[in-house]
Amino acid sequence: MPSLEILTYPDARLRDLADPVTDFSDPSLQTFIDDLLEGMRSGPGSMGLAAPQVGRSIQIIAIDCGLMKKPPPEHHGLIVACNPEILTWSGMEIAREGCLSIPDYTGNVVRATEISVQYQDRHGEEQTLILHGFEARVWQHEVDHLEGRLFIDRIVSRRSDLFKRKVYQPRQR
Ligand SMILES: [Zn+2]
Repeated sequence: MPSLEILTYPDARLRDLADPVTDFSDPSLQTFIDDLLEGMRSGPGSMGLAAPQVGRSIQIIAIDCGLMKKPPPEHHGLIVACNPEILTWSGMEIAREGCLSIPDYTGNVVRATEISVQYQDRHGEEQTLILHGFEARVWQHEVDHLEGRLFIDRIVSRRSDLFKRKVYQPRQR
């Protein structure tokens, strides 16, 4: 089965507000989540994906800091979160972020270093977690996608905080 197409900036669908998930008994929801996870795992160095990035305007994100080359010391592995909310924020840190929907750039973004979150898992069960450090950053980045926000909206200066990725150029023969 072909994997889902990942929308890239400036696709207008990346700016939509996503709708909540309401019917957890719908079998197509589980199929979609499996496809979303496949999409997340297929991106180079990607550790998160939100449903709007694959053209579905619904409130689902998936993160897995275990996919990172150097995973942070504290993380929860795979989390699939429907209708995610951030309840509390604390601390602040600036660090480099990338996004499958903005493949050519990375940027310096300020995020909270600790957040408490609430969500429903893929079966509709209510869950709460406290996330720290890079895992908290990935969550904040993905939840932004559900509100039509991209990391480039959060950088202070495009001149000093946006970086062109080094793209591997195949040798011309
Ligand atoms: Zn992103």
